[in-house]
Amino acid sequence: MSELNDLYQETILEHNKNPRNFREIEGADRMADGNNPLCGDALRVYVKMDGDTVSDVAFKGSGCAISKASASMMTQVMKGKTREEAEVLFDEFHRMVTGGLDVETDENHLGKLKIFAGVLEFPARVKCASLSWHTLDAALHGDAEVSTE
Ligand code: ZN
Repeated sequence: MSELNDLYQETILEHNKNPRNFREIEGADRMADGNNPLCGDALRVYVKMDGDTVSDVAFKGSGCAISKASASMMTQVMKGKTREEAEVLFDEFHRMVTGGLDVETDENHLGKLKIFAGVLEFPARVKCASLSWHTLDAALHGDAEVSTE
């Protein structure tokens, strides 16, 4: 577990310093705002669809290192996914950070997102890690706002 913890720390810090897809999308088809009042994380997620496929996804906002790193990595994996694939990933990620999915033994498509299994040890951080995911899910369902409160 300590190896995973090291990787977790390193990855979070790196993405926080240099978040991917940290921008607005002009002409976004969908967007949603996500707020996590407990920590003060506030993100806006932009989505551009091409038919049923997420052709571009980006985010802006401010928040703690975990919320930004999670949003950054989420945008990386979601690009090019169909709505259905996006929903599977959302469900798996959500179950992982809430303890319903064991990344080592349960079949999943999380890949490098597995490092976020580390937040299980820090219950207050679960909402930080899942904020961008809930926000993307809301955007895909046409809801403009989501709060993890
Ligand atoms: Zn946070």
